[in-house]
Amino acid sequence: MAKTIDLQVNAKNIGDFKKGYPLILKSAIINADVLTKEGSIVRLIDRDRRFIAKGYYGNQNKGIGWVLTRKEEEEIDFDFFESKISAAMDRREEWFENADTNAFRIFNGEGDGIGGLTIDYFDGYYMVSWYSEGIYSMKHHVYSVLEKIVAYKGIYEKKRFDAKGQYIDQNDFVKGQEGDFPIIVRENGMNYAVDLNDGAMTGIFLDQRDVRKAIRDNYSKGKNVLNTFSYTGAFSVAAALGGALKTTSVDVAKRSTAKTIEQFSVNGIDYEQQDIKVMDVFEYFRYAKRHDMKFDLVVLDPPSFARTKKYTFSTAKDYPALLMDAIAITEKNGIIVASTNNASFSMKKFKTFIDEAFVGADAKYKILEESSLPKDFRTNRDFPEFNYLKVVILQKIK
Ligand code: SAH
Repeated sequence: MAKTIDLQVNAKNIGDFKKGYPLILKSAIINADVLTKEGSIVRLIDRDRRFIAKGYYGNQNKGIGWVLTRKEEEEIDFDFFESKISAAMDRREEWFENADTNAFRIFNGEGDGIGGLTIDYFDGYYMVSWYSEGIYSMKHHVYSVLEKIVAYKGIYEKKRFDAKGQYIDQNDFVKGQEGDFPIIVRENGMNYAVDLNDGAMTGIFLDQRDVRKAIRDNYSKGKNVLNTFSYTGAFSVAAALGGALKTTSVDVAKRSTAKTIEQFSVNGIDYEQQDIKVMDVFEYFRYAKRHDMKFDLVVLDPPSFARTKKYTFSTAKDYPALLMDAIAITEKNGIIVASTNNASFSMKKFKTFIDEAFVGADAKYKILEESSLPKDFRTNRDFPEFNYLKVVILQKIK
């Protein structure tokens, strides 16, 4: 274990840490330059060297580490990790008992007390995601805790730092029994094929569970559905199971066809009755307009950033334009599910994008529902910036 380092907090940031703000921003620290080794335990102190909090050094896209405790005496050791992880598991008891859903998050970073670490559960398999070299250096504690407190089939990990090309041929298996992938998990009675050892993504984004359920239960019956940025078609499956007349899934990645066929098939849906297109969404919008195609339900859940041969796309900049395109091919009284996982702007800002798009499209709408992360993705209500998911379900009324 690296040695403890004292970090002096800027006067104006002290109050935030005292209120429980968990992220250590570089701008909040006067002497951040003393940090050299990720995983070092840091003591946050004020000008008079009074203790504020203790945490660790680890570089993520945002921040240089996380607060772990505000108790000066608390050691960051096996017992610390055990208490946080078992408390998190206790909070998920209802999930473990739910017969309809066996894929969910059991540990959500700072929301469960340890920023930079998440653990997802997929029917007996555990997937640990590490968001910095710093937290990864403490992995022995986390794996020892899992060894002690859970009965796992197998453990996999995702190193979500040092992103460059690391997923080429990377084996993410850690220990236990290797999965015979794809395994089929259940979510609110739907089946999803999941592979924990196939790159950064698993086949399903667990944080959209409530949205998939809403689409199936409330918005699909008899509808012509367009799912853009469809990935493995998880929303299309939900729509088809909800009685959609037809779904169209559009994703630029070639792998999406086989993956989407698989998701339909494990649900007993005839994929030949559905449309699966490998295409740039922006091109698809033009194609649909040209052919005067209209949809009753359009799902819009783009990645925060994307680059294809022709475009770079960032939700923070381009969401209004994207939504305008979607509005143009949505039927009157049709529904748009507008979603983004970009943490850099708030729900309030997202709604201004929606306004902007409808003004630009000379159309009108009303909001039917809005939601953010599901309950297993625990976040602290005092700090909404960590609740990155923003979903608005709206109806085009004119
Ligand atoms: N909405 C999906 C997840 C989307 S992941 C779900 O909930 O399951 C983002 C997807 O967007 C990836 O599959 C990626 O291939 C796709 N993508 C990125 N840029 C795109 C573009 N310009 N056109 C179509 N698909 C794109």
